Amino acid sequence: KLYNQIQDLRGNIRVYCRVRPFLPGKESASSSVAGVEDRTITIMTAAKHAKDARKSFTFNRVFGPLATQAEVFADMQPLVRSVLDGYNVCIFAYGQTGSGKTFTMSGPKILTEEGLGVNYRALNDLFDMQAQRKDTFCYEISVQMLEIYNEHVRDLLHSGPNKKYPLLVNYILIMSDSTLEIRNSSQKGIAVPDANIVPVASTSDVVDLMNLGQKNRAVCSTAMNDRSSRSHSCVTVHVQGRDLTSGTVLRGCMHLVDLAGSERVDKSEVVGDRLKEAQHINKSLAALGDVIASLAQKNAHVPYRNSKLTQLLQDSLGGQAKTLMFIHIAPEPDAVGESISTLKFAERVA
Ligand code: ADP
Ligand code: MG
Repeated sequence: KLYNQIQDLRGNIRVYCRVRPFLPGKESASSSVAGVEDRTITIMTAAKHAKDARKSFTFNRVFGPLATQAEVFADMQPLVRSVLDGYNVCIFAYGQTGSGKTFTMSGPKILTEEGLGVNYRALNDLFDMQAQRKDTFCYEISVQMLEIYNEHVRDLLHSGPNKKYPLLVNYILIMSDSTLEIRNSSQKGIAVPDANIVPVASTSDVVDLMNLGQKNRAVCSTAMNDRSSRSHSCVTVHVQGRDLTSGTVLRGCMHLVDLAGSERVDKSEVVGDRLKEAQHINKSLAALGDVIASLAQKNAHVPYRNSKLTQLLQDSLGGQAKTLMFIHIAPEPDAVGESISTLKFAERVA
């Protein structure tokens, strides 16, 4: 037990799990989740009475259906703050469609103060720290929002403010149609695509940006019918901090990623565009799992090149970077198959 805790503190990869409550009006007497403790989730794999119907999984933290957004964020706060010390951080929301990924990262459809998700809370926390440290550090915080759909990268802030503030000079910007390319640049590794980088200084700036990003995502959804569950969205927060005494500059970035739904689609039932989407999703989630698993195992070769997502995040996965894989579980008994495959994905990268 103690050994496990020490391992947790040392490792750069951590795994959290959150169980969604039943939706209002859809409460059910039976849940596929038999128990939740601080670090363990127990799932019913078969009918209640069978002896070996339960299987437990242990992660760094498990949140039950009653956990609030504030409680969830409180656990992530140290990780978020490390970006101010120059660390690169990736936070992934993983799970089947409907399991609560967007709720965790953004919030419910109608946003309330308590409902604010990790994206908002993380930025607000950085603003608080910026204010607290203003006599010793000068921080510049800016945001990009990207979408990866069918292995194409798009700028979700493309109709936003123009690229007036190119904070990070080592970024190579290339534009081809509305699809952006990822390219190697400088010794620092991977350049992010030609996407707007927008400075933010307040909660209302962030709300405006998130709204713009969501609007851009929605434009595509009408044509393609809820594309948001079949694309990855990535909010990247760039932080540059200058120590006012020494003049030292630190740079860190944090990627907040709402992944495409992890559900397996029945290949016999889908054709055409839907099949292509499913194949791209499977491939990129598998590539992400492979990268994190090989980092966890400290393999010499890390297969970043196998997907756009892992290429985009290469600089922020591995090395000193910190990763949080946040998996989501739906409690409905008919979701148990997907829940088990989500838990197994997480077990492999832990
Ligand atoms: P996903 O992004 O994984 O497809 P959503 O975040 O859209 O799933 O969640 C599906 C539904 O469940 C939404 O109506 C959402 O508001 C609700 N929901 C998800 N997680 C919670 C939670 N922890 N508490 C209350 N409602 C939730
Ligand atoms: Mg979603």
